[in-house]
Amino acid sequence: MRVVKLYSFDDIRVEDMPVPDIGAGDALVRVRSCGICSGDVMPWYIEKKAPLVLGHEPAGEIVKLGRGLEAKKIRGSEGKHINFSTSQPRNFFKKGDRVFFHHHAPCFNCAYCKRGDHVQCSTWRGSGIIPGGISEYALVPEVNLRGDTLLLPEKISFDHATLVEPVACVVKGLKRAGMKHGDTVLVMGLGVMGQIHIMLAKKYGAKVIGADKVPFRLEKAMEFGADSVIDISREDLADAVSRLTDGGMADIVVVGPGDIKAMSQGIGCAARAGKVLFFTPAGPDDILQLRPHDIYFRDINIITSYSCGPDDTKAALDLISEGSVDAQRLITHRFPLEKASEAFRLTAKAEDSLKVVVIF
Ligand SMILES: [Zn+2]
Ligand SMILES: [Zn+2]
Repeated sequence: MRVVKLYSFDDIRVEDMPVPDIGAGDALVRVRSCGICSGDVMPWYIEKKAPLVLGHEPAGEIVKLGRGLEAKKIRGSEGKHINFSTSQPRNFFKKGDRVFFHHHAPCFNCAYCKRGDHVQCSTWRGSGIIPGGISEYALVPEVNLRGDTLLLPEKISFDHATLVEPVACVVKGLKRAGMKHGDTVLVMGLGVMGQIHIMLAKKYGAKVIGADKVPFRLEKAMEFGADSVIDISREDLADAVSRLTDGGMADIVVVGPGDIKAMSQGIGCAARAGKVLFFTPAGPDDILQLRPHDIYFRDINIITSYSCGPDDTKAALDLISEGSVDAQRLITHRFPLEKASEAFRLTAKAEDSLKVVVIF
């Protein structure tokens, strides 16, 4: 099978690799589409893991199930949609099922899982699809298959299903930030994740302000429902937020970029008793300077949100299915596997593109 392997940022190769052997509880998926994540193009994040097969936003078709699964199949359940109201794992897939499969899945039993903090579960952290999402075939280990693999409704294409993971990350972030009806939400950075924040904040009744410096992205934010946008190449961010909110500032600030300057600016744009959501990690050696005096008397909450769990992916699939997230318009580019390095370059450039997917 062909895979896309990253050695360094300027060295992305298409290589051959044997199709993985599956164990009794695993599944083999023929991957059909995989999104490129902005995390995939964060040099400090990726280069420490290189060489590796990238891709954690995959969708495809189950072509083989482990022997243990065939036997355990529950009669009459084939083809039925997932029950979104339960976080119980599903263990009855069949060959030919079209699925989204998450690269991480939790145990559902540990203290973190019981609190709903699935991404802190050791099983979640240790799990992974093999060899990665940008590969013709992927092994979905039993824990991922049972814990966070979702059957796709017929009307959802493989391309659109690549948005399940990104949308789920936004769902988790907004949940953690406790967004309420009528909040003013400032979204800093209007790449695909920023645009999804805008769509969802709008859906849940917020007043939404987007900020970026790329004209294409500012325009898209207005199309996707922002009440106003700020071009930070022309205007100071905090001044503009103050102008747009009559000095009240933003109840929730979503800091998209993983850099200290943006985080610091974000804190400066929060309203009294506001919340600042760090949506992307900074580098391991970065230090953020804070004035606790100011944070304290303004009652500012700083919230982080790392990745997403099985509840979030289910909610995300629902949001895409019902059209609350416009997958069609978020995917701006598609590349065949051979041109994956172009897909990476385009994502890293962060200009006239939103979601870039690799199709197989
Ligand atoms: Zn991602
Ligand atoms: Zn757990």
